Amino acid sequence: MLESLQDGLQSAFKTLRGQGRLTESNMREGLKLVENALLEADVSYDVVKAFMQDISDKAVGQDVLKSLKPEQQLVGIVNEALIELLGGDSDPTLHLKQDVTVLMMCGLQGAGKTTTCGKLARLIGQDGKKALLCAADLQRPAAVDQLHIVGKSVDTPVYSEPGATDPIAVCQNAVKHARENGIDVVILDTAGRLAIDEELMQQLKTIDLKVHPDKAFLVVDGMTGQDAVNSAKAFNNALDLNGVIMTKLDGDARGGALLSVKQVTGVPIKFIGTSEHMDGLEPFHPDRFASRILGMGDIQSMFEMAQREFDQEQVQKTQERLQKGQFTLDDFRKQLNQIARPGLMQKMLGMMPGMGEMTKMLQGGDHEKEMRRLGGMIDSMTSVERNDPKLIDNSRRQRIAKGSGVSPQEVNELIKQFDSMASLMKGMAGGGMGGAMDMMRK
Ligand code: GDP
Repeated sequence: MLESLQDGLQSAFKTLRGQGRLTESNMREGLKLVENALLEADVSYDVVKAFMQDISDKAVGQDVLKSLKPEQQLVGIVNEALIELLGGDSDPTLHLKQDVTVLMMCGLQGAGKTTTCGKLARLIGQDGKKALLCAADLQRPAAVDQLHIVGKSVDTPVYSEPGATDPIAVCQNAVKHARENGIDVVILDTAGRLAIDEELMQQLKTIDLKVHPDKAFLVVDGMTGQDAVNSAKAFNNALDLNGVIMTKLDGDARGGALLSVKQVTGVPIKFIGTSEHMDGLEPFHPDRFASRILGMGDIQSMFEMAQREFDQEQVQKTQERLQKGQFTLDDFRKQLNQIARPGLMQKMLGMMPGMGEMTKMLQGGDHEKEMRRLGGMIDSMTSVERNDPKLIDNSRRQRIAKGSGVSPQEVNELIKQFDSMASLMKGMAGGGMGGAMDMMRK
């Protein structure tokens, strides 16, 4: 994510590496490169100008700390200014009420609004709360069907009224339905248009006025650069938004919109979309994201993602089995299932300090293919074999290889890999994926 911006900033910092102290001339050189990196990332010109002014004031005003090297000093100053630019201490907590909390989602067609409604419902469900999706986009008949498909995929009910023509009534009825059925959050999927028009804004204003959503979020497509910023400005003028959700940052979005939107519109980013799949929505924390852009990683978000995405009961069970020395190929298979989801490992690695290069190597999905290959071999074994791989003799090995379309040597390698992994894990305090996480947390 935003690799070219990260690379550009890294090369700015590199120019100061090995220099004795921060002087006006080496600082000027470093700052120029920071400015170029931001402009190349398509950050609005005015935003870059203000940002550069801010960091040069900070750099000049700062006493030269003898203990810090110039590179670290510049990283520190840029980090502070980036956090401010991304929204300061804005945080993505939804602050749910005792009563039903209503979230209004708006955005132009194609921005990713319906997909994001599903992703948000999924996050809410992972927090143990009940969400209801409300089909309030009555402009496109297909939109209601699409929301039903999305709802099904995240195991969330969808409220819709076939044949309805009044989106305001549908929203009001959905909130009533939620109240009567013990639902915590209603997510309103409102109509989108290809471009901003008066009718769309009027409809949203009326929903805002009559349904009283607790929060209004705008979904914008991060790949559209400055257009995303401009649409945020227009929607905010009409609606007083609580936050922006920027999607498609997994693609080749350069990041300009992400860095400009708060400064230009005053509205902070609350979530970012990082894949087309339902697990691709991340709460947005300015400080953690600044750290990620600067190559310092974001361990906190990585843990939170692991906690959300890995079945904690499964992690716990695996840990217990490991402690008893009972880790089997069945457990290994279950662990593979947890991490072998498209893009998940890459996303998590991208949050580790200095792992930017590694994630680039992983691009192309070869690691996912590899996991499928391993999974295929385990699936071709009988449960007796999975529990006791020592039983796998030559003829069993031939059968497994044939069943999974690999060579018998590959089956052998898997068993060897498993043996060494199992003994490594037995040695690990607590053991298993959970144990590894515990160790890193310390
Ligand atoms: P809507 O018209 O605003 O409701 O947009 P949709 O939810 O239908 O999304 C439009 C397209 O963008 C779909 O193909 C989605 O799969 C895709 N999409 C949405 N969010 C993301 C994201 O964060 N990353 C990627 N890669 N694709 C996304």
